[in-house]
Amino acid sequence: MNTYELIKKKRDGSELFREEIDFLVAGFVDGRIPDYQMAAFLMAVYFRGMSPAECIDLTKSMAESGAVVDLSRINGFKVDKHSTGGVGDTTTLVLAPLVAASGGIVAKMTGRELGHTGGTADKLESIPGMMTALPKERFIEIANTVHVSLITQTARLAPADRQIYALRNVTATVDSIPLIAASIMSKKLAAGADGIVLDVKTGVGAFMQKYEYAVALAQLMVKIGTGAGKKVVALITGMEQPLGYAVGNAVEVKEAIDTLSGTGPTDLVELVLELGSDMLVMAGIAASRSAARKKLATNLAEKKGLKKLAELIQAQGGNPRVIENPALLPQPKVKIEVTSGRSGFVKKIDALQIGIASRLLGAGRKTKDDPVDLSIGIVLKRKVGDRVEKGEPLAVFYSDGDRTKIVPAREKFLKAYAIGERQVAPPQLFHARVFGERIEKINA
Ligand code: URA
Ligand code: CA
Repeated sequence: MNTYELIKKKRDGSELFREEIDFLVAGFVDGRIPDYQMAAFLMAVYFRGMSPAECIDLTKSMAESGAVVDLSRINGFKVDKHSTGGVGDTTTLVLAPLVAASGGIVAKMTGRELGHTGGTADKLESIPGMMTALPKERFIEIANTVHVSLITQTARLAPADRQIYALRNVTATVDSIPLIAASIMSKKLAAGADGIVLDVKTGVGAFMQKYEYAVALAQLMVKIGTGAGKKVVALITGMEQPLGYAVGNAVEVKEAIDTLSGTGPTDLVELVLELGSDMLVMAGIAASRSAARKKLATNLAEKKGLKKLAELIQAQGGNPRVIENPALLPQPKVKIEVTSGRSGFVKKIDALQIGIASRLLGAGRKTKDDPVDLSIGIVLKRKVGDRVEKGEPLAVFYSDGDRTKIVPAREKFLKAYAIGERQVAPPQLFHARVFGERIEKINA
């Protein structure tokens, strides 16, 4: 086989076979195929697309480029959840312990920040002592005893994805549906769960902003997962305004604790109950989504999810006292109110711009190996539909006090808010559910 011929074949719109895709992926990972050839191939895929069969082959090839995690020593059905990435998406921190408290087993690998979106692994590390890089034996032991373990995905998990993603990031080939589907699903397949519930975001703060594209991505990912023998369901959910109030690391951990204590934002709670219902049904724990939802709601109200979070923190070396005393989380140097310049109703909050503002404030990494200041973030005080008077706070910035960060972050933040005369309803949170070949529209 010849790399030039394979690039040309894709460029001219033909389908590649599994052996040809394997040749490209393996060759790129072991350095025989240089960046420029892989970049040209990715651009050809960007324009020509891939057939579902081709995309399944690419996914498998990428999944098998490193270690495929064997979770067979964890008893029972292992259920995973994945979000395509949003702003203030605190879901996993609430969902994983609540599902475990309701009979599910969540042995999950979590990622770090990507683009304008945060990563669960970073958020978890704001809990003092919490370890997210555990030896495999310990991960399995915790999953068997606590029924939930959350670790950082290792460098050995789908290395082809990491290398290809880095190249896509600098060659304008990130927003290709088959490339995103293969990227996400290669990691999911390699991470070894039996079932996966996908939260595919759509809206201004999502990678797939348009609904039709989000549906196409969801359908393709469901097809890939099902083809690989996994149970997969996807929910298409809205990411117009940030989820909940907190955007950052420690602030989102605090929001998760509040939510498991029963005082969480309604959008976050709703999302957790919906995704959790699919997880429990998939795992065979509940016979219907409504039965699952009831179980989850009861366990949330009885604080069983909160107790489970404490067990998880303890098992992974963290200080479970953060639950009664969130002041043990990293605290910012200063808290600054950002106030509204006019009176009215919040009409829109652009999630993408809020995500960028949070990074400008210092909540993200500058380079990929930079440490993150986990105390930094934004806590919204008003969401879409809320009334605000001139001079009242729209948000509080958790900041290190550096004015060269605060000034541009504030400017970006204020531009994200639109305030009008009339009250509007919050944007739709649930759009559709995709399973098998079916798309079920959800009416708000
Ligand atoms: N998330 C991923 O893991 N990969 C993509 O390509 C896009 C979002
Ligand atoms: Ca949030």
